[in-house]
Amino acid sequence: MSRSYLNPRHQDLKTRICQSTGLPTCMVLNCGRATMAREQCGLNRYYCRTHVEHFRRHGSYSKPSYTASQLAPYRAAALAWLTENDGLAVVAAARHRVITRMWAVGAPTNAFRLRGMSPSARSRNVWALLGARQVDADQLLAVWLAVCMAHHADPQPERKLEYRHVQAAKVLHRLAGGSHRRWDGQATMGISATELHKYPASRGVVLRYIGQTIAELASPLDGYIPAISKTSISMHRPKRVRQQAQAV
Ligand SMILES: [Zn+2]
Repeated sequence: MSRSYLNPRHQDLKTRICQSTGLPTCMVLNCGRATMAREQCGLNRYYCRTHVEHFRRHGSYSKPSYTASQLAPYRAAALAWLTENDGLAVVAAARHRVITRMWAVGAPTNAFRLRGMSPSARSRNVWALLGARQVDADQLLAVWLAVCMAHHADPQPERKLEYRHVQAAKVLHRLAGGSHRRWDGQATMGISATELHKYPASRGVVLRYIGQTIAELASPLDGYIPAISKTSISMHRPKRVRQQAQAV
């Protein structure tokens, strides 16, 4: 008699994977790989393992993330707009919501001790790290506004809101940083030090939680995104065109 060492939940998942039948090949154009269900390595019936992993990291099965240089001009424009409109009640409200969030989640957990934590707990830890590093609330609001502006200006945008959530979350995750340890030791040729750096993985459900939260916190500013986009366009026009516009 064969005996299964899998717990009931894993056994159930294994049975479902064995029973599921998916499309023969991945739905991403020109991919051609077998879907996870067809390969019996997962439940996804429409995409291959590579594109499922791409979705976990980027929020889209095929579209890559916006690069830092793509987002940089929008972040600068958003920050400038937030500074210029310091007196607006909505700016103060959004800023207050972000600061409250950072301090409401308590002290951060060391990145070396995140194993086994749920995605929601990990997302709260990212907010705690941002608070501990005293990251400016305007910087965080500017990230969300920049992602929205990049989306509006994108000629081939990913329509799903989840993509924008993930894009903003990736930047916040990077701003939160990681944990670092250092041990000094005596070596035969002088002082030697051992360093260990740990950065939490930037993928999966945790990015969705972080993105949803920053979108909610920045929601008082949603109506101002078209106006901020216009300042972004004027800021990044060629100098000659700007001078002509000012002369009129
Ligand atoms: Zn694929």
